[in-house]
Amino acid sequence: MQTNCEDPVGGFECMMAALLLRRDKKSTAAHLKSDLNRTDNSSGVRQLQELLDSVLNPEKPPADTEALDWCKCLIAGEEGFEEFCKTVRSYDNATLCGLVWTANFVAYRCRTCGISPCMSLCAECFNNGDHTGHDFNMFRSQAGGACDCGDSNVMRETGFCRRHRLRTGENVPSVPRDLLLMSEMVLPRFIICIIQYLRDGYTEPDTSAERDLQKVLQQLEPQITFLEELTKMGGAMRTVLTKILTNQQTFKDLSMGQEENVFAKKNYENYLSALKNSGLVSVEEKAQTGAAEPTRGSETGEDQDGQSIGQRKRVKLSSSTKDPSIMDSLKHKCFLEELLFWTIKYEFPQKMVTFLLNMLPDQDYKITFTKTFVQHYAFIMKTLMKSQESDTMSNRIVHISVQLFSNEDLARHVTEECQLLDIMVTVLLYMMESCLIKSELQDEENSRHVVVNCSEALLKNNTYWPLVSDFINILSHQSVAKKFLEDHSLLMLWMSFVSFFQGMNLNKRELSEHVEFESQTYYAAFAAELEACAQPMWGLLTHCKVKETQEYTKTVVRYCLETLQIWFDAIGFVDELAPNQVTFHLPLHRYYAMFLSKAVKCQGLDLESLLPDQEMLMRIMVHPLQIQASLSEIHSNMWVRNGLQIKGQAMTYVQSHFCNSMIDPDIFLLQVCASRLDPDYFISSVFERFKVVDLLTMASVHQNTALDGEQERPMLEGALTFLVILSSLRIHLGMADDEILRAEMVSQLCMNDRTHSSLLDLIPENPNPKSGIVPGSCSFEEMLSAVADFKAPVFELGGSMQQGMYTPKAEVWEKEFDPIMVILRTVYRRDVQSAMDRYSAFLKQSGMHTTGNPWPPYKERTPLHPCYKGLDRLLHCKTLHIVIFTLLYKIWLDHSNMSEHVLCMVLYLIELGLDNQVEEDKGDEVRPSEHCHDSWFPGTNLLSNLHHVINYVRVRVPETAPEVKREREPPASTSAEASNFGQAQVFSLVAERRRKFQEIINRSSTEASQAVRPKSSSTRWVPPGTPPQLVTEILEIHESMLSLLIKLHQKLSAKQNSLSATWLEDMDANPNRHAHGDGITAIERILTKAATRSHQSKRSIQEICGKVFPPVAPKKNSPTAKKTMDKEERRQRARERQQKLLAEFASRQKSFMETAMDVESPDTEAAMDLGASEVKESEVLYDCVICGQSGPSTEDRPTGLVVLLQASSVLGHRCKSDEAKKLPTTDEERIYPADTCGAAHDVRLALMQSFFKDSSCLQSVSIGWDGGVYVQTCGHTLHIDCHKSYMESLRNDQVMQGFSVDKGEFTCPLCRQFANSVLPCRPGRSTEVVSWHMPSNKKTSVLVKEVEDLQEQLGFFPTESNLSKEMELVIKDIKNTTQRKYMDYGKNPGSPDNDFLFMYSVARTNLELELVHRGGNLCSGGASGAAKRSCLNQLFHVLAMHMRLYSIDSAYNPWTRLTQVAPSRDNCLDDERPEVPMLFRDCPSLLIIFVLTMPQPLRKEHFICLVRMLYNLQYTQALAALSAKFSPEERQAWSTSGTLKKVMEISPSLPYCCFVLYPRALGYLYHPIICCPVRLLLLFQEFSGLAGCLGLLDPAPQPSNPMYSASCLDWTVSAFDLMSQWCSEVTGLADTQTLLVQDLQWASPHLLHLPDNYNTIFQYYHKKACTACKKVPKDPALCLVCGTFVCLKGLCCKQHGICECVWHSQHCGAATGIFLLINASVIIIIRGHRFCLWGSVYLDAHGEEDRDLRRGKPLFLCVERYRVLEQQWVSHTFDHINKRWGPHYNGL
Ligand SMILES: [Zn+2]
Ligand SMILES: [Zn+2]
Ligand SMILES: [Zn+2]
Ligand SMILES: [Zn+2]
Ligand SMILES: [Zn+2]
Ligand SMILES: [Zn+2]
Ligand SMILES: [Zn+2]
Ligand SMILES: [Zn+2]
Repeated sequence: MQTNCEDPVGGFECMMAALLLRRDKKSTAAHLKSDLNRTDNSSGVRQLQELLDSVLNPEKPPADTEALDWCKCLIAGEEGFEEFCKTVRSYDNATLCGLVWTANFVAYRCRTCGISPCMSLCAECFNNGDHTGHDFNMFRSQAGGACDCGDSNVMRETGFCRRHRLRTGENVPSVPRDLLLMSEMVLPRFIICIIQYLRDGYTEPDTSAERDLQKVLQQLEPQITFLEELTKMGGAMRTVLTKILTNQQTFKDLSMGQEENVFAKKNYENYLSALKNSGLVSVEEKAQTGAAEPTRGSETGEDQDGQSIGQRKRVKLSSSTKDPSIMDSLKHKCFLEELLFWTIKYEFPQKMVTFLLNMLPDQDYKITFTKTFVQHYAFIMKTLMKSQESDTMSNRIVHISVQLFSNEDLARHVTEECQLLDIMVTVLLYMMESCLIKSELQDEENSRHVVVNCSEALLKNNTYWPLVSDFINILSHQSVAKKFLEDHSLLMLWMSFVSFFQGMNLNKRELSEHVEFESQTYYAAFAAELEACAQPMWGLLTHCKVKETQEYTKTVVRYCLETLQIWFDAIGFVDELAPNQVTFHLPLHRYYAMFLSKAVKCQGLDLESLLPDQEMLMRIMVHPLQIQASLSEIHSNMWVRNGLQIKGQAMTYVQSHFCNSMIDPDIFLLQVCASRLDPDYFISSVFERFKVVDLLTMASVHQNTALDGEQERPMLEGALTFLVILSSLRIHLGMADDEILRAEMVSQLCMNDRTHSSLLDLIPENPNPKSGIVPGSCSFEEMLSAVADFKAPVFELGGSMQQGMYTPKAEVWEKEFDPIMVILRTVYRRDVQSAMDRYSAFLKQSGMHTTGNPWPPYKERTPLHPCYKGLDRLLHCKTLHIVIFTLLYKIWLDHSNMSEHVLCMVLYLIELGLDNQVEEDKGDEVRPSEHCHDSWFPGTNLLSNLHHVINYVRVRVPETAPEVKREREPPASTSAEASNFGQAQVFSLVAERRRKFQEIINRSSTEASQAVRPKSSSTRWVPPGTPPQLVTEILEIHESMLSLLIKLHQKLSAKQNSLSATWLEDMDANPNRHAHGDGITAIERILTKAATRSHQSKRSIQEICGKVFPPVAPKKNSPTAKKTMDKEERRQRARERQQKLLAEFASRQKSFMETAMDVESPDTEAAMDLGASEVKESEVLYDCVICGQSGPSTEDRPTGLVVLLQASSVLGHRCKSDEAKKLPTTDEERIYPADTCGAAHDVRLALMQSFFKDSSCLQSVSIGWDGGVYVQTCGHTLHIDCHKSYMESLRNDQVMQGFSVDKGEFTCPLCRQFANSVLPCRPGRSTEVVSWHMPSNKKTSVLVKEVEDLQEQLGFFPTESNLSKEMELVIKDIKNTTQRKYMDYGKNPGSPDNDFLFMYSVARTNLELELVHRGGNLCSGGASGAAKRSCLNQLFHVLAMHMRLYSIDSAYNPWTRLTQVAPSRDNCLDDERPEVPMLFRDCPSLLIIFVLTMPQPLRKEHFICLVRMLYNLQYTQALAALSAKFSPEERQAWSTSGTLKKVMEISPSLPYCCFVLYPRALGYLYHPIICCPVRLLLLFQEFSGLAGCLGLLDPAPQPSNPMYSASCLDWTVSAFDLMSQWCSEVTGLADTQTLLVQDLQWASPHLLHLPDNYNTIFQYYHKKACTACKKVPKDPALCLVCGTFVCLKGLCCKQHGICECVWHSQHCGAATGIFLLINASVIIIIRGHRFCLWGSVYLDAHGEEDRDLRRGKPLFLCVERYRVLEQQWVSHTFDHINKRWGPHYNGL
């Protein structure tokens, strides 16, 4: 307590501080504040410092919040912190929202309003702004973000919300000086205190450090939260904080610690060592040591354990151009800098991040913070790479960086002032350098190229993405991108970065063994190329679109070529590829290609000026071509030993997200090469790469050293298809963006109908922006409506739910279907077939082509851009023509491995050649004619070569070939051509290509220094294996391409002379007529084109057609040839046959079911005949669906109905009102469950139980409204013993489809409907029915007596038999179906009274449900679909058998009291409680009890007697209820006026129940028993109809006058006496009024009424707290029956091992639940132990679901779907209609 102080003043102040500490904080604060406001405030300042010294002591644990309380008080002054906050907030001058959110927050993005693609809005700002008609979506934040409202750098002002549009800042008064004075003085101390805690808590992460870091952060939480609170006070406070955080002087003063504070010194040391350990030095220190060596130290340490990660040795680059100052040094000059340093060091704690981001609306802060962030960029990367939680950290980094770099001004500012670009590129380079390995491409030993290792964590986990995404983000700003493109050293650096990916993930073809382990590194490789290489490329390309930017493109192209040259040298590539290798990653090629394309297309540059020499072009062509050949190899199963992953690569390469960054640039580059290189060279290279050179011989037999037999055909098809694609694709060769978009769209739609979103996903993003807001281009939506028709979503009953689909318009099929584009874009091979199937279906339907299978249509191409004209020379070169000729010849002769597809592609190439003529190249020097195959054709023009006749060809064949024998005789004819066959007709593609190569090399070798190269090539290309014995043979041909075409025409049409000599004249000139058709059409079209374009061809055609051909060689029938030719056709036919079979089977099954249904209820059938009073004597027969036998159900071998028992609360959820309850969407709205049928009955029973004898109560009501058991059947019957063995077989079956056999579940063997029990059928004859119709003329009183006697009969116990056993079993099943609590309503659980009540209530439940299924009315429903499912007849029988086991105590038999006037017994004698008075009893329940307990079968007259007596009671009850509702005056009037009749007149609306409901219930009971087709009438008619039917009235129709319900009364004793007796029972009882009024009328059950817009639900419920756990659930769900809000899957609300959703389904729906998953917009159904995803009732504007709200587009209620859902719920058909059920294990 005593300080050792000499200074009296100091001593005094010490005492003061101690004093102050003891004083109440508030008054101290007030006191200090006034001191500080004086002009001389030095003493105040001193006092404050002293106080803070003792309060803010970092040696105290941070958990001690005393210091925090002090700070709050000091800052706030006398008014208190809350009040202070409010005051400061009133000076908020911020014009930005700036709200910061973390992961999982729901935010919005509007593409219409956004300038930056990263723009986002908070829900409040979004809803308060006007975005009607905009392209916006809602999304769930992944990394966190901040609201941009009010920031015109990022979004258009029109999108600002009302609050931020007003620019509130301008009218806010300026802040009074003294308000924040204390803050300015206290906060610096507070912040340094936090920093000291952070320094002190930091330990190097070696062992358990991670946990320590977390602990430090946890302890600091209150402090950081306080800082965050401060930022929320608005602009005024943020300004103060900014000043403090950025003030260098304060930092200098406080950072080292004052005076001799040992603690402060120590933790400053700690700070310095943390810096050092991060591989960083402060600038001063660096100046001292002068070396950058310390950084390397830590690196090598890391490398040693890093090497084990990849199997291959890492490579360290020795020389790197990076600037060490970027990587290694840091100096902190203000609090902000050190705070950020620690934020990074502690791996971005969420609270800190939020605090730092909350400050951003302050512009000064934003700039300083951005600079600080950039300064620490390298450090961030290093920390990220070491982090264990790199995913979380990545998100946090981006959360910050996206706020900084999305703003163009800011990005440009830091680019100019802080070298942002250099830093980013260097950091990226440095990062990738950490995982380099030696490339094995081409030359495994001597390669000097290095590539990234895709199996390293950095690539596998995508750790680099935050940095790459920052880079892409800043490149999107034009000013920044320009800086990048102008900086050559930066470009060089970037190209070397890109080259790290060139050739990565090399695949080597496995030739012998299947690969042991399928590496999945290809994911990493494709992702890396797309994100790290292609995305920045597309970013740069957007700024190279106009003439003015030509220079940029030129520079990029130059560096690309330079880097490519370096690459070729490094891998040691000369001219031959190392065999069996392929890499899909050639980013350098693709950069080059795309910049070339842009240069020509948009910048008007001359292609020639950007191209390298021929030699370089030849090299550039090799790798992309190898990929194309490999694609074909992979699809020809040549890479099977490499596993499935290689197919994955081939598919990814062409997939929509990758294609325009991969295959498209590759094809384009090949097209460029083809347009410049010698076409003969190019064509021969293609066939050589595809390994089909050996195949291209005219001999019938050949050797192939490179391919297996079965690979030849697919490889040949691949090569030809590739050539067709190459020469017809125009994506980068002249198509406009709109045309490309259209073509993409058409090809996707042709493959399949698509939903809007899947189409959007399938259209490549570049160069087509999908948003469609780019000026001048056609939008996605416009284009879509131009090419496609919308098919609205439909729900196929019993089938799946269709979504809204787009399908091609007819004219698109007719004119735009492009098979080539489809082939290019298909990921799955089956899609090509699907497109062709759809195409032929269209042709058939429109009558354009009805016979056989059409061929892919030929499509004319847009003209080539002049720069690429050279491409057409490909079609006009001798090499190609020889190939074509050879193939036509081989196809004609049915050589092996020729297919329809080959012919199709050949014809395609011919037609392309005819349509794309080359102007005669006169400039070309006269070619030296020593070409080895020059004598084949005279020139290069296809048109003139077509009719050129080839007479002899020399081939080399094996000795065993058929030609050898045949042609052994000396050649007979010696024409001019034949004489020099020695060299003329030899055709060798390989030799040709090599010769051409040599030629080019020789030409350019004069300039090129390396002349040695070609040598290596010739030695390497030696085919393996011993060459077979070949002999040279000469074939006599005498054909031209035209003659071969005509012969093929005959062959295809199987007609001799199929083309007459004059057919050309007969052809009509309309080419459209011939656009669609098969091969015959295609040949005719080609011949016509040739004839119209060349006279010579025309003459030649006429000549050939004029000749009479000898019959075509019968080779057509050769079985092997047939096999290959028609493979496709056969496949097609097989498909058709299969479909037909399936359809047939389905219809057979259906008709079987229908017939089965007809006999389902034999009683019905029999009863139908009763009208004719013709009775069949025959016994009822049942078909067993298992053994197929037909027979009666007997005591010994009973038959049963397949039934599904299910507990149901549908009835209990009915309400009085017919309108569905509204789902609450605000806090004010609520749903009250009290008015439901279930609740009302519960209340009534409880009330009765409080007054009356329990057993009597249990006979006076029905239960089963909630949790009743509903029984339904598919109508199929089976022997019960057959069923047992069926169940046994299911139990042994391992493959179970969602149902559990142990619970007795199975599917009907015939119709596959879900079922869980078997209801035994009553044996017997239909004649029994007769007794019902015997005329009755006994008097009512006699009948009453008879009934009484019958009731007295003791229940007779049926003899034990198989049947009775089964009946008891099914009763057990019924009981087990529902929960215990729905059966025990009595006071003594388990008493027989409970059981009795439950059993007759089952009957009631099923009757009531039948009524509901008929639409709540006997007149409207009729025999609905549900009627087929009901099995009331059999059910009643089983129930009656069971009920006979109970006997009613005759003393209490209600029948006596219903029919006799008896002196009232004194009930109270033996029981404290009386019996339930008759007027309180439920008549339908009584009726059911009577019917079920009387001996079976019941006679009709007795039944009618029951009905009549009960009707009297019901009528009296109605009157009593009416009187109970009367006012006293009315009651008085009634009792005086007298007759009942009069009452009816005054009150014509006598309670509805009396008219309709009661007889209706009776009608139902009556109906199943006697199966009389009830004539149904509406409402009142229903009553009279029923009354007549039931014998209450004279059945003869009375056309007269209104009918009174009173006329149905029939009393056997004095009505007055009886009624008085009933009334006397209730007089004097409490609650009489309540019990007298019985609710009988319930509206049909409804699900909750849902709002139209899903957003209304989502906004309210996604952040609503659960009432049970008070937390906002991660997966909120909503019960659509009652509106209860539950935590799906939440452990928080789990009880007894059951999650809340399942628990609720048990209580709300007796194990059936319908839940809407709020965050997914999807509905799930829970049924018992199973659940299924039902789908969504909310669809977007395109009729599509949006599961998980991924797209976030506005969703609207689909009323039809919701109705279907409700209908399935009410009809209990979830089990039948939904197929994909799975167990939920109580975990939902
Ligand atoms: Zn906002
Ligand atoms: Zn706003
Ligand atoms: Zn908008
Ligand atoms: Zn059977
Ligand atoms: Zn069935
Ligand atoms: Zn519910
Ligand atoms: Zn909950
Ligand atoms: Zn919960």
